Amino acid sequence: MEIKNNLLFKDNSQVEYIQSPNTNGQSRLIVPSYVIIHYTADSSMEGAIDWFKNPVAEASAHLVIGRDGRIVQMVPFNQRAWHAGNSSWGNIVGLNSYSVGIELVNAGKLVKKQGNYVNWAGHVIPEDEVIQAIHKNETSPCFWHEYTQAQFDAAIEVSKALVSTYSILEILGHDDIAPGRKTDPGPAFPMSAFTSRVFGRA
Ligand SMILES: [Zn+2]
Repeated sequence: MEIKNNLLFKDNSQVEYIQSPNTNGQSRLIVPSYVIIHYTADSSMEGAIDWFKNPVAEASAHLVIGRDGRIVQMVPFNQRAWHAGNSSWGNIVGLNSYSVGIELVNAGKLVKKQGNYVNWAGHVIPEDEVIQAIHKNETSPCFWHEYTQAQFDAAIEVSKALVSTYSILEILGHDDIAPGRKTDPGPAFPMSAFTSRVFGRA
């Protein structure tokens, strides 16, 4: 994968692009130094894309990655997408102005109700896609929707392209830059293995 003019390409073809209106456009360009990983909090790729296409959402991400590894870009990487909200890291406040946001399709935190694992929207997640783990910002175990290998691999490939194009300092979770307010990508996402693969460490 490669990036040309702030757009993602694979094998010399532009990756699927669906414009989100939820960006500052040309009026407030950015130079990304961070990559922020999110989950969409639901299991439908189309639902996530439709939401980010809706001006009412006032939310967007540069990339959405489906559970089958499908990648859709929605905002050019040099434009400010609206994924981080109130956030800080070190001395930096408001990570939207400094980062690329990647949304992974994942139902997020789950609860067990009448024998089913359901997310906030009440959508049932198959038991074989559920893990139990303690979030690093929490103290007791919860159920979480697992990520898929195809999605993980796709996220690595796009992050490598971002690292080789921009001066990316760190890859962070939304739960790193907005702890207490946000739990994504959560303990089901193997962040240290991910960053090692992206930055080429063994
Ligand atoms: Zn998020």
